[in-house]
Amino acid sequence: MAHDDIVDPALQGDDSLAEEQIRPQRLEEFPGQVPIKDKLAIAIQAAQGRQEPLDHMLLSGPPGLGKTTLARILANEMGVDIKQTSGPVIERQADLSAILTSLESFDVLFIDEIHRLNHAVEETLYSAMEDFEVDIMLGKGPTARSMKIGLKPFTLIGATTRAGLLTPPLRARFGDTCRFEFYSPSELKHIVLRAARILDVPIEDDGALEIAARSRGTARVANRLLRRVRDFAQVKGDGVITREMADAALELLRIDRLGLDDMDRNILMTAIEKFSGGPVGLASLAVAVGEERQTLEEVHEPFLIQLGFIKRTQQGRVATPLAYKHFGLNTPQTNSPELF
Ligand code: ADP
Repeated sequence: MAHDDIVDPALQGDDSLAEEQIRPQRLEEFPGQVPIKDKLAIAIQAAQGRQEPLDHMLLSGPPGLGKTTLARILANEMGVDIKQTSGPVIERQADLSAILTSLESFDVLFIDEIHRLNHAVEETLYSAMEDFEVDIMLGKGPTARSMKIGLKPFTLIGATTRAGLLTPPLRARFGDTCRFEFYSPSELKHIVLRAARILDVPIEDDGALEIAARSRGTARVANRLLRRVRDFAQVKGDGVITREMADAALELLRIDRLGLDDMDRNILMTAIEKFSGGPVGLASLAVAVGEERQTLEEVHEPFLIQLGFIKRTQQGRVATPLAYKHFGLNTPQTNSPELF
């Protein structure tokens, strides 16, 4: 895995085996996201009491916060199977129909990146979600005809990093939306300690907190940093992850006290130096730092906004006084007075 990718929660890469090992299986093993868990615990119990499938549900939030994990947990708790696919993978209506007709009663269909479904496929989903039926085409050419096929009642769980891109008709067909929040350091510490226990890694409380504090609020990043720090502690120390060991390892990975990596710093410094602090459009910023616009938008920006280093305005992105301060720079006289 390249250096820059360590903090990219959208990448799964070479860590996927270990990720599977530590993925929580039950609701009670899933730390954090308390409001979502509370709501879902009730939904599960109610659906089971009524012998109905769960309502269709939309999970939204930045990558690596546990949307896929929670979808799997929901299926587990309901005692049903889950089929997992993603928006860009389903190219034709027939692909979706094939998946839908293979579902058993109450099964969960999980569609990741649901905002990236193509239009025709999305339309097929409407009647499937609403009436549990799909139109399928029989034959080809002028003799082709369509036939309605009934589906077994199922639950669609859609995940998206970009809820704003969902079309209104699709959004309206979800019974509920769960918005994932970044984890607090103490929640991440809990996640790190749990993963360390499963992976049999000796770790001190302070070591776990150091990793947690630098994991940009993201469970996947915390788990990934834990594995990198484990390697470091094994090679440079006696294998135990202490605070000092975590600090030295993260320093080597160029992840600072706040969890910023080289690209985050590059984005901020570019906005400050090349664009006089902004406002600057995301596309220009992406070109200037040499990163994909989507990665900027889904990985770096949400975190920098959360830290209060960047603000989104109508005119573009603006570096805040906090960002200047982080680099020991003086805040300039501003053309965006509402920031100061
Ligand atoms: P998303 O679908 O939101 O991108 P995932 O569900 O794939 O995120 O989670 C990413 C990784 O983080 C997985 O390895 C998962 O085990 C771990 N993870 C996510 N949420 C939690 C949590 N609350 N507790 C422990 N591990 C978690």
